[in-house]
This record gives sequence, structure tokens and C-alpha cells, in this order.
Amino acid sequence: MKMKDLGEFGFIDRIAPLCKINSGDVIRGIGDDCSVVSLSPDLYLLVTTDLLIERVHFLVDWQSAHTLGGKALAVNLSDIAACGGIPRDAFVSIAVPDRLNVDWLEDFYRGMADLADKFKVNILGGDTTRSLTDLVINVVVTGFSNPKETLFRNEAQPEDIIAVSGPLGNSAAGLELLLNPRPIPDTIASPLIYAHISPRPHLTEGRTLAKSHACNAAIDISDGLSSDLGHVCKQSGVGAIIFEEKLPLSEPLIKLARELTVDPLDWVLNGGEDYVLLASIRPDQLTDVMRAAASDGWELIEIGKFVSTPGIKLVRASGETTAIVPRGWDHFKY
Ligand code: ADP
Ligand code: MG
Repeated sequence: MKMKDLGEFGFIDRIAPLCKINSGDVIRGIGDDCSVVSLSPDLYLLVTTDLLIERVHFLVDWQSAHTLGGKALAVNLSDIAACGGIPRDAFVSIAVPDRLNVDWLEDFYRGMADLADKFKVNILGGDTTRSLTDLVINVVVTGFSNPKETLFRNEAQPEDIIAVSGPLGNSAAGLELLLNPRPIPDTIASPLIYAHISPRPHLTEGRTLAKSHACNAAIDISDGLSSDLGHVCKQSGVGAIIFEEKLPLSEPLIKLARELTVDPLDWVLNGGEDYVLLASIRPDQLTDVMRAAASDGWELIEIGKFVSTPGIKLVRASGETTAIVPRGWDHFKY
């Protein structure tokens, strides 16, 4: 069987049972945004890792080494945010092709260090090797959480409100412009491309959600709304309804879709790499959480609700209801 027949997530489901060795203190292993291990009754250790490969995830000439370094760390911090945690330390391994010089690599590390500094994350180690072809970047980040304030993917309840912590689809639209450059006004193109090359980890947002005690589940949107909401639904044993009219689309995204005469919905549902959080909020506490978000300086946006019937449905602006099949990013099914 080929990986493309199984898909990324089919493969992970297949190897997961082989990886359980000693599950004593393990709260979550494979399958959530971070692994979660209980260190004491008051403390969970979170660990997450992500791999970025040149020509698979990025092209070196799309962005500066500085922003690439920031993104390599940001995507990991985003997983800590999805668990409601506080990041601690990072470990960075790189396989470097001959064509990248030391100045470039130093700039890459400066980009990581600048973001690390914002969140008081140390870079405590890693590994460096030569690569024969592409640049390979692997980052591991550890973090901590309070057991009573840790967010998982699998505890969404029917009737919970589905809410997100920022706009959707910007990164995918930015990627489209990087892949197929077009003469689009800078005021439209720049914020979208920036969203793709320089995502901001929603750590503040994750903490607000965790502290609220009203958030039953969360995930960061890395693969796309349809896929990541699909993970929460599958793991929580629920379904979901989302409303097109409530989906947060940015002004540049709407303008780009108009310029290219395309429906932005595909970027919003299937694009991925927005790194905003999707949260499952107890309906009676939604107003309180929205107020807490506003006082922490961000907006929680309601986009739908979880239901007991499996499957994801989208209520279009026209009133028509359609089924959504997870079609976000899967490394082996594109
Ligand atoms: P995320 O998008 O939040 O980074 P992924 O979709 O990449 O998460 O991974 C889903 C889960 O599968 C995570 O728990 C991750 O640690 C685990 N995982 C992914 N690839 C592997 C692998 N090759 N071996 C073991 N676990 C893996
Ligand atoms: Mg994640």
C-alpha cells in the first residue's frame, strides 16, 4: 500500500497503537496538538514538534530567512496555544544544503530568536547536519499547562458553540499569490502574503480560552477549517454546523476573490495555515468568554455549533445546506 492510499491521518492512526509503550502518566499521546504528560497533580508537560521541508512547505525565495525562522517556531507555539499552555523551551534541528550560507542561517536564527524573545522561550538545543538537496527544519517546543486549564481536541459537546480566534483563508490566499504571482494592488496582496509567511501564534487567545473554564475543546487551524473541525468532530464523537455568513473573511481576502472572480470559500474551508484557534464553547458562557477575549485584546468569533449528528454541514448564505467533506491539507492526498 502506498502512503497516498492511506493519507497522512490514516497513516498516523495506523502507527499510533505501536507507539504506546508505558502509558502511566500520559494524558494524551498521538492525536492531539501536543502530547500531554502529567508531572504532578498541578502540572502538565506539553510537547509538540513540526517539520518544514523546502519545496514541500516553502520556497527559500518566498520570504526572508528571518520570517522563515519566525514561522518555524510560530507553528509549534500555535500547538501549545491550542492546548491552552505556556511555552517554555525550543529545540531546533536543521539539515542545510551547501547553497545556503552562514549569513542566511544567522538571519534565520535571528527570526526565531525575535519571536522566542516575545514569548520568553529559550532555544536549548537541536542538531545540525548537511543536506544533499533541500533545507529541512524540525522544531520541538515544550510547554506547561494547569491540568484544570488544558484544552484537548476530543471533548466538544453537542450544542457547544464553534468559535474562532481570527480570520480564515488569508494564508491560503497569500499562498495562491506566492505560487501564481499576479499584478494585484499591494494593499490587497501584502497582508495576505504576510499572513502566510509570518503567522502569529495565538498564545494569548489560548490562555483566555483555557482560563475561562468554558472551553470544552480546541485545536489550531493548521490544515484548514474543514479538516481541523473534522478532527475535533471525529475525536469528540459529534457533528457540526457552520454558517457561511458568520465566517470571518478579511477585507483583502474578499477583494482578492473579487479580482480573481473566485469563491473565497475554498480558501476559508480548505486552505490551512491560518494558525487561529477553533474553540468549542459552552453556549451559556459564550458571552462571558467573548467579554474575557475583548478584555485580553482579541475577538472571539462565533461561526457555528456542534451537534450530536455526525458530519459537518455548511449553511450557505443562500440558505441552502451542503455537506462539508474534510479537504484540507493532507501531505499525501493533494
Ligand atoms: P498538528 O497539525 O497539530 O501539528 P498533526 O496533524 O501534524 O498535528 O499530527 C497529528 C498527531 O499525530 C499529533 O499528535 C502528532 O504528534 C502525531 N504524529 C504525526 N506524525 C507522526 C509520526 N510520524 N509518528 C508519531 N506521531 C506522529
Ligand atoms: Mg495543531
